[in-house]
Parts: sequence; C-alpha cells; structure tokens
Amino acid sequence: MLPPIPDAFRWTDESWGPALRCRALEDLAPHLFTTRQLRLSSAADWQQVADAVGAAELAILTQVHGRAVVTASRGMGHPEADVLIGDDPEMALTIRAADCVPLLIADGASGAVAAVHAGWRGTAAGAATAAVEALARNFRSRPQDLVAAIGPSIGACCYQVGSELVDAFAAAGYERHLVDRWFSTPREGGLRLDVAGANRDQLVLAGVPEAQIHVAGLCTAMHLGVLTSFRAEKERAGRIAGVIRPRPRPSPRWPGDRRPC
Ligand SMILES: [Zn+2]
Repeated sequence: MLPPIPDAFRWTDESWGPALRCRALEDLAPHLFTTRQLRLSSAADWQQVADAVGAAELAILTQVHGRAVVTASRGMGHPEADVLIGDDPEMALTIRAADCVPLLIADGASGAVAAVHAGWRGTAAGAATAAVEALARNFRSRPQDLVAAIGPSIGACCYQVGSELVDAFAAAGYERHLVDRWFSTPREGGLRLDVAGANRDQLVLAGVPEAQIHVAGLCTAMHLGVLTSFRAEKERAGRIAGVIRPRPRPSPRWPGDRRPC
C-alpha cells in the first residue's frame, strides 16, 4: 500500500517498484524520487535510476551538509558539495537522502535544473537559497520561473532535536520569526524541527512563488514500507535518491541558430 500524497505528486511504477514524481515538475524536466525498493548499492541500481529519467550519465556528489554548489559536467567525479546545477540533458543531477530534504528545481524558461541535499546543517547553511542564486548566476534563471519539488524527509512529527539547533539557525542569521516558525514544541514535549517547511520558506524568500513549490509531505520515519529513515532505522537505513534531468532543448532550425540574411 502506497501512502497518500498531495495532488501535486503521483506514484509511478518503475523497474524496481514505486517512485514519486511531481506533476508540475514533470512538465519541465524528467525527474523522480526513488523508494527503498531500490537499494542504491550497485552500479546496476544506479543504471536503473539513469534509465528511469533517460540520462546517459548521473552526476553524484560527496555530500557534506553544506551550501557549496557544483555545476554538473561529464567525468566530474564526486566533488564535495550539496547542491548540483546543470543544463546538459545527457546528465541527470542526483542527491541521496535518508531523512534529509531532497529538493529538485527546474527553470521553465532556461531549462536548467538543480538538485539539493539539505539536512538541518544544510538548511541552516541555506543550501536551497544557494541553489536559486547559482541558477541565476550561471543560467540567468529568474526565481519566478522556478518550480520546486520537496521530496520525502523526516517530518516535524518525528524529528526531535536539541536546542543547540535553534542556536545554530539564529547564528546563521535567520530572523527570529522564521526560527520560531521552523521549530516547535508540541504538547507532548520535545523540540521539533520542520526541515521541509524551512526549505520551502527559504525558496519563497529567494523569490520562488509559493504556488510553484510542491511539498510531498511524507515523513520518512512513518512510511518505512516505501521510504527509509536514519532516525528510525539507524545503521540499517538505506537511502533514497532525488534525480532530475534537464529537458533536451529543441535543436536550432539553422546551424548556430543564426538565420541567413
Ligand atoms: Zn513522522
């Protein structure tokens, strides 16, 4: 049984089993979020991910919980960063997560895309904001043209954290009203962090229209039939991947797109 999801998303049937796709993002770029049914432990597993989005190659980072950005290129290796951007339709951008937020972004105007890995450290560092800024810098993307999908991550329901995280967000310069919005203390006690909500708010603050940001709203710790959670499963946790490929641009009618005089 697949958990219910908002209308903006749909479950699809892939070679390994279920995957999650965002309807609004589908119009702009082939993408998906994998499930625990794909273990991501072998080259053959990763080939299934590439095939599912029609990519020749996957760009995969060494994730370090920061805000550094890498532009995907052929044979790039696995540089340390948490944000990938690119516009090469042969290369799908890939991030891995097991509670952290997997965030996929596409620019409807330029065709460029981004993939972001943001746990609490990356969120405090502003990884989502860094992605919007890098798309603007490298591909002239305007925030109002961006569509974003926030995949499954640990929900505030299951993400009890220490007060040092509040201090870390405050030290990173976020205004008090934002920190108060992202951290809450439910009646049963324990400080909670809404890491998906914080990323959504960062995109809005960066200029992405709220109606173009879609949150799957699936808590990884509560849906272990299809997802996987480091908090819930510790060392037994697997990973899910978020992957997005720039849509091929129509080829120019004339070589170099220059019409003869
Ligand atoms: Zn939960």
